[in-house]
Amino acid sequence: MSEEFLLQTKDITKKYKNFVAVDHVNINLKKGEIYGLIGRNGAGKTTLLKMLAGLANPTEGDYTIFGMSGRKTASVRDRIGVLIENPGLFGNMSAYDNLKVKALALGLNDPDYLRELIDYVGLTSAGKRPVKKYSLGMKQRLGIALTLVSHPDLLLLDEPINGLDPQGIIEMRELIEKLAKEQNITIIISSHILEELSKIATRYGVINEGRLIAEFTHEELLEKCIQLLELRTDDISKANIVLENMGIRDYQNIDKRTIHIFERVNDCGKIVLEMARNNVDISLVETKHRSLEEYYIDITDRDSIGRTGEEKK
Ligand code: ATP
Repeated sequence: MSEEFLLQTKDITKKYKNFVAVDHVNINLKKGEIYGLIGRNGAGKTTLLKMLAGLANPTEGDYTIFGMSGRKTASVRDRIGVLIENPGLFGNMSAYDNLKVKALALGLNDPDYLRELIDYVGLTSAGKRPVKKYSLGMKQRLGIALTLVSHPDLLLLDEPINGLDPQGIIEMRELIEKLAKEQNITIIISSHILEELSKIATRYGVINEGRLIAEFTHEELLEKCIQLLELRTDDISKANIVLENMGIRDYQNIDKRTIHIFERVNDCGKIVLEMARNNVDISLVETKHRSLEEYYIDITDRDSIGRTGEEKK
């Protein structure tokens, strides 16, 4: 496996009796990335993260993490911060005391660092208040602080925005971005809401019924979501000829001045240049996107339908 990657899985699989929860998944994670793992409820995200965290054993396959086989990760466990399901907080204790319990369990004693962590996740004003009085957003941020006690290089965050109100979501997003940028921590974050992940992730893996069905960068995602190009011109018939001469057939004249082009939508620059060469004035050119959620639902639906077809064969 390549050294360029902080984490690589090779056909990692988890079966519960005959049920395959994670099915031969291969993901490659580079240092510094924020990897968005997207999938519906039950797709296998938590199971995959649990295997990467060393909390569940793969039935088949393997993975390499920090250059070591996943089967021998005991020595690198402290380099991985894990927030899966709920953070396991002591409700009657303050944030500081919760962090102290974790630090002691790890054999660490650095009170200044624990106070720094509280500041870092924005919980200073909570003071000595017991954690049971915290909002869900505050609890999640404390959960992140707990993952940071051991100074990890990799964070595995399972649905950290689930159930948060809009303000809580913004705070969590800002914190995750800060961790990646300022602390240089590599992050895998799972969610069933692509729209939300898209605000922070640099790369994505789509998981459906246990299988990784697509992987793409943020830029590729935006390109995939471009649905059509809208051109506006005073000379629509001449513009149509230019398109035809370029071999573009899949377009539609919406009104006397507006054309929608559905093919080669990423060739926007070339199309406009060709119009200019033929003295067709273009007063507006715009790409119209489908929502990220529409794109994600489309690829997962197609995969599920494809699989039903396969099974019938
Ligand atoms: P969610 O957001 O609902 O947690 P997920 O994508 O994280 O979804 P997983 O929790 O990984 O999905 O579950 C994947 C599938 O494996 C589900 O169908 C789940 O019921 C099943 N599963 C998970 N853990 C076990 C277990 N210990 N025993 C049997 N089946 C399990």
